Amino acid sequence: MAFDIEMIKKVYANFGSRVEAARKVVGRPLTLSEKILYAHLWDGDPKTAFKRGADYVDFAPDRVAMQDATAQMALLQFMQAGRPQVAVPSTVHCDHLITAKEGAAIDLPHAKTESAEVFDFLSSVSNKYGIGFWKPGAGIIHQVVLENYAFPGGMMIGTDSHTVNAGGLGMVAIGVGGADACDVMAGLPWELKFPKLIGVKLTGKLNGWTAAKDVILKVAGILTVKGGTGAIVEYFGDGAVNLSCTGKGTICNMGAEIGATTSTFGYDESMERYLRATGRSEVADEANKIKEYLTGDDEVYADPENYFDQVIEINLDELEPYLNGPFTPDLATPVSQMKVEAEKNGWPLKVEWGLIGSCTNSSYEDLSRAASIANQAIAKGLVTKSAFGINPGSEQVRYTADRDGFLKTFEDLDATIFTNACGPCIGMWDRTGAEKAEKNTIVHSFNRNFAKRADGNPNTFAFVASPEMVAAIAISGNLGFNPLTDTLTNDKGEQVKLDPPTGDELPTKGFAVEDAGFQAPAADGSKVEVLVSPTSHRLQLLDPFTPWEGTDLKGLKLLIKAKGKCTTDHISMAGPWLKFRGHLDNISNNMLIGAVNYFNDKTDTVKNELTGEYGPVPATQRDYKAAGLGSIVVGDENYGEGSSREHAAMEPRHLGVRAVLVKSFARIHETNLKKQGMLGLTFADKDDYDKILEDDTIDILGLTEFTPDQPLTLVLHHADGTEEQFLVNHSYNAQQIEWFVAGGALNIIRRDAAA
Ligand code: SF4
Repeated sequence: MAFDIEMIKKVYANFGSRVEAARKVVGRPLTLSEKILYAHLWDGDPKTAFKRGADYVDFAPDRVAMQDATAQMALLQFMQAGRPQVAVPSTVHCDHLITAKEGAAIDLPHAKTESAEVFDFLSSVSNKYGIGFWKPGAGIIHQVVLENYAFPGGMMIGTDSHTVNAGGLGMVAIGVGGADACDVMAGLPWELKFPKLIGVKLTGKLNGWTAAKDVILKVAGILTVKGGTGAIVEYFGDGAVNLSCTGKGTICNMGAEIGATTSTFGYDESMERYLRATGRSEVADEANKIKEYLTGDDEVYADPENYFDQVIEINLDELEPYLNGPFTPDLATPVSQMKVEAEKNGWPLKVEWGLIGSCTNSSYEDLSRAASIANQAIAKGLVTKSAFGINPGSEQVRYTADRDGFLKTFEDLDATIFTNACGPCIGMWDRTGAEKAEKNTIVHSFNRNFAKRADGNPNTFAFVASPEMVAAIAISGNLGFNPLTDTLTNDKGEQVKLDPPTGDELPTKGFAVEDAGFQAPAADGSKVEVLVSPTSHRLQLLDPFTPWEGTDLKGLKLLIKAKGKCTTDHISMAGPWLKFRGHLDNISNNMLIGAVNYFNDKTDTVKNELTGEYGPVPATQRDYKAAGLGSIVVGDENYGEGSSREHAAMEPRHLGVRAVLVKSFARIHETNLKKQGMLGLTFADKDDYDKILEDDTIDILGLTEFTPDQPLTLVLHHADGTEEQFLVNHSYNAQQIEWFVAGGALNIIRRDAAA
């Protein structure tokens, strides 16, 4: 398991001096977020102040974490990098590919068989390259990271948007795509636009039915799903100190739901308690030595308006419990008003399922508080009216909760204990009857509640709440139930009331576990063979992309002129395609199938210039490739918005598309194209988009003098024999031009490794 104390000592050794240097260049007191960012500059000591929301900065993260769905492509790429070992401590966590149906005892062995080839690959590639491997059933990535690896003041990237959970232990932890993870594991810098800062001042103390979850449910209601975009949310104030460490994790976790880059809290006694309880006293001792640097400066917190771009204040004494939903996590309704709101909006009041779990709320404290409600229900002669399911966050949490009787309490209320994994939270829930698509309500303690997310049924109304509130509502079976005021009828026909939850922040007898599910990598992985069957449908080793041929690109076919919104989901769909995330050729059969063709307003129907027939985009492109012809994709504004999924750039590259020309790019997708050796171009004059005709043949000129800030020329050969030409811009710097010439950034990493 071994958290890397030497790495942490190294980070802390420079932390204070770098913060002092940053204070000088910035010329004012610093927030915690700024301290962590400036302490992790790739170039070492801060020499210049960065402009928030504007400057791109190279950072040196301390760790990388990957989950099983995204790790596949990240590690397939890393295998091409020619490095014998990862450059920073890294871990893989098998949590996404486990279906919840009957309960852990049946579901886990089934998943191990069903996804054996993916797990075997991840296990062997981890073993070879020095990566810690957490087996299926070991737990959910972010819970396991919090329990084992997160540390105050650290910087981590992870191939999952809820990597931000580690802010609960005072990290700056950020979700990225696999290509970024690959770079950092190969020892390269990681670029991020210096974030803006939102300060959330917490005063008072949680009480009664209110939980840490309600803080973020309230913040989501205030900021909405876009309000945190490009910003780090930093929590402070006496209310923050009063929260448990895992409660802080819950709050940071759902920062992803407001679009925040990440969220964080200053180092305090709750973090120290958590570090010691999870066997990391050494880390706490080291953190204590520099603790004045591991939180924001006093002047900042005394006068936050002067230092943050936006400030929100929440008084925990007055905070009410919330239920957020349906269909969006920012629709916040106080529990006291839910009955009225549900009746007004036609949300079904009968609750079919209550689910506790996910990386957001699956800690020991969460289970203990929910169990206190379940215990009362049993003692007061109540039964659950809804079905009830629990996913513990890790094997350590499960084992300890079992020892302390919580799981038996849940089972006495007929709950199903699912695997320590994501399960229903990622839609891996084989819910009986979901295919009937009936209108129904569920409540859960997860983070996301978009349509179809949990069970694939677009008519499931999902509401997000704290675990204790989920337990109370599952017992009542009624979305409008307010445990603060309402009573329930027990088996004797009496009216009984549930008392507020109680629980333990940490187990009084300490955490325990027999087998946490960790596999340490081989000390010398050079002889380890990576297991990929050549006949696999789910995994495929990558071949390096071919370098640029050294000439202008001529005779390109127009594959598609996409109209309107074209997100990474339109370019590389998720859903049923998830299982091919490790097989580039198979997943390429979804390339651009969601994009709307400008010429016929249809999706996945483009003209094949070789046959004159209309057909699917991937098949048409495969025909061009087989004929040795390159092609070009044309797009509209903000092309490639959405996730950082690198498949959206790798698929066109793999199938032989040579350039993507758009009115504007989403930044991460543009970078991903460059990394894969593609040409990402923008119209110098956006009206030139209209000049591109369906039957055009296209040349791109100027590549032999490809230099930063110099536009290229596009020539359109129309079918009627006429020609038009215009300038197209690019944003390639000298290094990115090298990527293009070499056929991709990985080819350069490999070349340098071999030198
Ligand atoms: Fe993502 Fe849900 Fe798994 Fe958390 S529990 S990592 S949100 S799928």
